[in-house]
Amino acid sequence: MPIYEYLCPACGQRFEHYWRSVAAAEREPPPPCPACGHSETQRVISQVAVLGGLGGLTPSEQAAERAHEERLAKITPREQIEKFRAAKQQEG
Ligand SMILES: [Zn+2]
Repeated sequence: MPIYEYLCPACGQRFEHYWRSVAAAEREPPPPCPACGHSETQRVISQVAVLGGLGGLTPSEQAAERAHEERLAKITPREQIEKFRAAKQQEG
């Protein structure tokens, strides 16, 4: 169930609204303000969702994580090649 955040332009109230689906949220008019009843509330793009997508890591931690993954990606194939070569030498 998607949660959208709304801002009331009349009284400045910010509130969250639970929609049945994303399609309903896009299709139906915004929910009225719970504080003053104003009907033309505006959807707020939540910063929380963006921060959550980063997995709680700082930029330097993310860079370290990425470098570690790249190192593994380079090392692993070489190890497999060396094992393959070692096996070949034992055969010969
Ligand atoms: Zn309001």
